Amino acid sequence: MTRRRLLVLTALGACLLVVVGAVAGARRAPAGGRADRALAPAGARAGAGGAGGAQAGSRGLGDPYFPDAGNGGYDVRHYDLDLRWDPGSGRMTGRATITARATQALSSFTLDLVGMRIDRVTVDGDRAPARREGDRDVRITPRRPLARGARFTVVVAYAGGQNRVGAVSPVEPGWFADDTGDVYTVFEPIGAATLFPSNDHPSDKASYRFRVTAPAALVAVTNGRLVRTTTDDGMRTWEYDEPDPMASYLVQVAIGNLDVVRGRGPDGLPLRDVIDEDAGRRPAALARVGDMIDFYDGEFGRFPFGTYGGLVVDDNLGFALETQTLTLFGEDAADQPTVVAHELAHQWFGDDVSLGSWRDIWLNEGFATFASWLWESHDRGVPVADNAALAARSSGNGVPPGDPGPEHLFAGSVYDRGALTLYVLRHAIGDDDFTTLLRTWVRRYGGRSATTADFEALAEEVSGQDLGPLFDAWLRSDEMPRLSDWVGGDDPAVR
Ligand SMILES: [Zn+2]
Repeated sequence: MTRRRLLVLTALGACLLVVVGAVAGARRAPAGGRADRALAPAGARAGAGGAGGAQAGSRGLGDPYFPDAGNGGYDVRHYDLDLRWDPGSGRMTGRATITARATQALSSFTLDLVGMRIDRVTVDGDRAPARREGDRDVRITPRRPLARGARFTVVVAYAGGQNRVGAVSPVEPGWFADDTGDVYTVFEPIGAATLFPSNDHPSDKASYRFRVTAPAALVAVTNGRLVRTTTDDGMRTWEYDEPDPMASYLVQVAIGNLDVVRGRGPDGLPLRDVIDEDAGRRPAALARVGDMIDFYDGEFGRFPFGTYGGLVVDDNLGFALETQTLTLFGEDAADQPTVVAHELAHQWFGDDVSLGSWRDIWLNEGFATFASWLWESHDRGVPVADNAALAARSSGNGVPPGDPGPEHLFAGSVYDRGALTLYVLRHAIGDDDFTTLLRTWVRRYGGRSATTADFEALAEEVSGQDLGPLFDAWLRSDEMPRLSDWVGGDDPAVR
């Protein structure tokens, strides 16, 4: 996500007031979740192939910032989402077919789903009772317990209107629809559950297939590549496939009067920009994406997905969001090359290598910010040191980027001090090891999720240095270290 600071601070002020209560609640791990996690080994002792000792799956994964997000006891492999949009009533009717594998013997399990009415649930074809548990969970009890290691398929039929989740973000996460019938999604960090039942946490990535049905005059787009469209009785169905593992918050579903502009990037990569007709022409900055991919390919390794492009909506959002293969831009952000470069870099850092927990947010934002400095240096000759010097002078860097707290998830420090951490690291281990580190990071953890501890361990592995003091000072101390103490007084960033 990119924030345009001045614009956003006002909007964010209002948001923070709304979510203070939710954050205070989020810091308390749910008693049920804790108990279930403690009990999980008992279920595991039943052994693979048996459902003996089956336990209820936990209602949350115990994320340090959002403990209720996600669910315990299974790993989703694939989401097949059928969505039918009725702009007249503002209702979305959904049918989610979720393929998963039990990681413990399960007597029941939960899915995250906020505010929707549930019509019918089956597990492996059998009707299964489902009841609400708290604000964001639905507990489902299969007819027979699921053995540890068993693959199972859940089908949930549901319907409802827009809902929001009280979590810290430039906006309250959810899906957005206006009275002209336009739809788009802003799910970071835990808002995907407003649109579809899910294991709504970046540590459980899955592939997706979307079928979006809307009045035939409208265009629907999602992540991934178009498979086919079919038209029936004035309604058109758009089918898309995203085969690469994706975190739930990176799902994008947009519907409206959309122009799709197609092109080709490096090595023939299909490019696709999607512009709301009311947002005007395609911004010039988006036309640079092919060059940016070419540059980042050289820095981080080959672009990780099968397509890329921007989605420009006709709202001044004050931010952009790196939804996988199809970044969301407000019309105010889409023509800023630095923002476009930042969001593109997230496809490697955040989308391909995803967060193990929300506490690791600097792995997204610090990396994407640093990557945009590299692009500015390559494209316009702006020294990386100049951006580092600017970032070092910005206020608010007292928030430790390695543990900002849920209320400061998108604080400026997560971006600026996060990027400075990489600047200092590059100075400490040298350009060659630094480049090797970033490329190895993407190669080793691409398609998966990783933590700050994983990154620190890899940095020490690649460089052979003890980097504990550096990471402690830059990621975890309550005061930002003095840049000159870490790069020397001769560094151009401090001269
Ligand atoms: Zn970002």
